[in-house]
Amino acid sequence: MNGATLVISEVFGPTLQGEGPSAGRPAGFVRLGRCNLACDWCDTKYTWDWENYDPQEELHTEQVATVLEQLDAMGVGMLVVTGGEPLLQQRNLPPLLQEVKARGWWVEVETSGTIAPILGPDLVDRFNVSPKLTNSGNRQSRPYRPDVLRSFQESGRAVFKFVAQAPSDLLEVDSMVDECGLEPVYVMPEGTDAETLTARMRELAEPVLARGWVLTPRLHILLWGNERGR
Ligand code: SF4
Repeated sequence: MNGATLVISEVFGPTLQGEGPSAGRPAGFVRLGRCNLACDWCDTKYTWDWENYDPQEELHTEQVATVLEQLDAMGVGMLVVTGGEPLLQQRNLPPLLQEVKARGWWVEVETSGTIAPILGPDLVDRFNVSPKLTNSGNRQSRPYRPDVLRSFQESGRAVFKFVAQAPSDLLEVDSMVDECGLEPVYVMPEGTDAETLTARMRELAEPVLARGWVLTPRLHILLWGNERGR
């Protein structure tokens, strides 16, 4: 661990994991800087959008030992590594993850599923993979990588969480799920306020149910709005 560093946007918690299978569980979050995609509705543009944010202010290179001290102070038993796209730094993550696992914590990594994972089951318990649909508006980069999604599926440690704005988005999810053999499938409404999320969840509920998938809220938005560091 000596001297190991990460490019960090923010470390925060204890808070509640807001999305996916661990929604509602207390967790500490490490948000890493930078992303290889550019989603129109991204709610963490301060990690990568340097036309509107200043990287000198938003990002800092942090010693792993310092990050660990912050996590130890939270004492919550679960780490969520998020971004940005955390797998851009996956080669630098083992020193932190080894220490966290040595403490017996559960570790989740959130990713868009465009970079194949090299982090083994000794370091990561679950990948929350969120492949981006056409509604994300990515024009420059290729957000759909079937080969990478299959490698997550083969890891046996991934769930696939799709961000939908309307039931029609689920047709695109259908073809990705079929083509790559993905499961389990979670659907999450896009939105950064409680009214939008609730309305979209109501629209999505029946078609998600009909497919045998799981509907997940964004609990942190329902509880605290789009407050940063939650
Ligand atoms: S992949 Fe995630 S962090 Fe990157 S732009 Fe899209 S929503 Fe934002």
